[in-house]
Amino acid sequence: MFGLKADWSLDVFERYFTLGDYAGGEARWCPGCGDFAVLNATHRVLRDAQVEPEKSVFVSGIGCSSRMPHYVGTYGLHGLHGRALPLANGIKSRRPDLDVWVATGDGDCFSIGAGPWIHAMRLNMDMVVLIFDNGIYGLTKKQTSPTTPTGMRTNTHPKGALMPPLNPLTITLGITNISFVAQVPDWNPPLLFETIKAAHQHRGTSFVRVLQRCPVFSNEFSKPMQDNPEQMLLLTHADGIPVDDAVKRVFPNQREHDPSDWLGAMALARDTSMIPMGLLYRDPDAIVYEDFSAKGLEKTNEEKLAAIDKALDKFAI
Ligand code: SF4
Repeated sequence: MFGLKADWSLDVFERYFTLGDYAGGEARWCPGCGDFAVLNATHRVLRDAQVEPEKSVFVSGIGCSSRMPHYVGTYGLHGLHGRALPLANGIKSRRPDLDVWVATGDGDCFSIGAGPWIHAMRLNMDMVVLIFDNGIYGLTKKQTSPTTPTGMRTNTHPKGALMPPLNPLTITLGITNISFVAQVPDWNPPLLFETIKAAHQHRGTSFVRVLQRCPVFSNEFSKPMQDNPEQMLLLTHADGIPVDDAVKRVFPNQREHDPSDWLGAMALARDTSMIPMGLLYRDPDAIVYEDFSAKGLEKTNEEKLAAIDKALDKFAI
């Protein structure tokens, strides 16, 4: 396979991966589900980055979105409810050479997985975390999730959700050592692709909250934004997510926001009058935990046992 360079010379790749190389099984989501858009954008990001499929792993918890590892032609682990992030941290800890992705939802991550979410963000290991947030438990058919809008009728709150929804952006931004926070709607493919691409290029844990359509159980969550783009605020900046004019045209409200400005990001996340879309925050200098955990991985088992013996000998009486 050949690749044409800007100077018109040719790169000859030993292996070139096409979109087909990243395809997994046939996706079984409902027609119109926003998960398809995230899957397609992710396939394209993998292809453009020429990630070796055998060097990539997708990890998930439980929920509709957590079926993603089945639909990507890489290694995958469909784990336990709320435990995708610790599994991914463990994989990255022992195999820092792997390209690690996490697919999780609002129920999986923000409810049962809330503890692991906070600690994984602080560890800032190099991985992409895709949050498919549809404001409902979809797989189990319409129970209130932490991000269900107040008043939305669900099977657990037939007269409408009682509590104000949790704000995943302010919480994530408030975690020590956070390094990448973005939000994007699934129904804008170019913006979705560019956001996931930027997340993949970032070294550290990239938290991408995708506002995701679930036309079966939570139309009330995304439809108002789809019908009225004035509810959204597109964030623009030279260091943010690249957006072309076609994308800009569909967002009547836009604001220049420097993603290194944490206070500005927090103010945008707290403001409920408009929903920010794009890159809220990025810190390329945040500490990455595998820089510590990967130390000594190259040692043989014998060397590791000898080191343990030597350490224990210090306590011999
Ligand atoms: Fe998608 Fe909702 Fe169907 Fe689940 S229930 S596959 S989130 S449309």
